[in-house]
Amino acid sequence: MMEIPDHDWTRGGGLPNFVTHLECSETGERYAADRLHNLSRADKPLLVRYDLDGVRRALPRAALAERPQTLWRYRELLPVRRPENIVTLGEIVTPLVPLPRLAGRLARGGEILVKDEGRLPTGSFKARGLALAVSMAKELGVSHMAMPTNGNAGSAMAAYCARAGLKATVFCPDDTPAVNVREIAMQGAAVYLVNGLIDDCGRLVAEGEKTVGWFNCSTLREPYRIEGKKTMGIELAEQLGWQVPDVIFYPTGGGTGIIGMWKAFAELEAIGWIGNKRPRMVVVQAAGCAPMVKAWEAGAEHAPRWPDAHTFAAGIRVPQAIGDFLILRAVRQSGGFAIAVDDAAIAAAWREVAATEGLLLCPEGAATYAAYKAALADGRVKSGERAVLFNCASGLKYEMPEAGTRLTLGEPVDWTRMAGHG
Ligand SMILES: *Cc1c(COP(=O)(O)O)cnc(C)c1O
Repeated sequence: MMEIPDHDWTRGGGLPNFVTHLECSETGERYAADRLHNLSRADKPLLVRYDLDGVRRALPRAALAERPQTLWRYRELLPVRRPENIVTLGEIVTPLVPLPRLAGRLARGGEILVKDEGRLPTGSFKARGLALAVSMAKELGVSHMAMPTNGNAGSAMAAYCARAGLKATVFCPDDTPAVNVREIAMQGAAVYLVNGLIDDCGRLVAEGEKTVGWFNCSTLREPYRIEGKKTMGIELAEQLGWQVPDVIFYPTGGGTGIIGMWKAFAELEAIGWIGNKRPRMVVVQAAGCAPMVKAWEAGAEHAPRWPDAHTFAAGIRVPQAIGDFLILRAVRQSGGFAIAVDDAAIAAAWREVAATEGLLLCPEGAATYAAYKAALADGRVKSGERAVLFNCASGLKYEMPEAGTRLTLGEPVDWTRMAGHG
């Protein structure tokens, strides 16, 4: 059973909280905390800002040792003010699973670690963002939330809204995997299948804002999902003994995770928990939908909409991202790069990691392994480096290739063949 850690929270009626304001990610314009916000007046994402000197004084790093292994252990760096508003389904610290056999083959002296986010509630790291978004919605008095999704975000929003007693409405492209659509419905949300892509769904959510009055929880239009995703960066640094890895491969759709981790590293340095080393941030996309890769290669600051987006790695089929400039900034400032891998390479990587290491990734996670191999081959990653690959969802949420050889009782069995398979 997962319990919310209670020591010292409820006394005095609130969490130790250090939020000072929100800030436009482009212009720096300030916005009041404790009010509902979507984008800034410049139509750009808002970032939550904290009194980091206050956090530094209030929270010695060693104090974490006492706290339960959930993302709420970093509560001083999170926006929720009152403990009763925390909506939780047990957001565990996810394991860093090494791939020793593949590392031995490919990267002598190097390390490949998979941050396995598939263990989180609803089977994906969208739980981190939505736990924070729904907690803040509750704190700020929202009663109905809506979002466009390729599956996992909608499922997480539905689950946390059910938990909080909020209404939820979700719009998916009509080719979203059935398991996601049904999961969303089972968790109490209304789900609509749209004959378009995720950004078409986003337009419907925006239209409904005016008529239905729901709160728009779309990626980066809602300011607190980044804060939830930020905990991936804090957690990773803590797991590595307050070191950062040399390089992080991240399957990038809307980019909340990469923007969130980049923010986490800056905040951790400001409170003195890590030094100034940063991992090289690598954006991984599918060749059939690679707007960030194209913009990175062109040296552009923004990424125009990718036409005819297609890939079976649904979580990264995002033709246009409103936080494009923030993603590209993190990649450039970190000395990283952006790389595309095609669906055949993703499928091969999916099988290779599962069959060799016993770790069933999601296709988006498999894309990071395919990208790692390509980057090792072209020298952008060195074999002695410590690389972290993000596996963002449980492989079990995806349709797998058909398998199974039929046996008919009473007919001869080919034991020799069975022995050969090992
Ligand atoms: C949402 C999602 C992504 C992309 O994450 P962003 O932080 O939005 O870029 C990657 N993989 C999976 C499985 C996802 O659900």
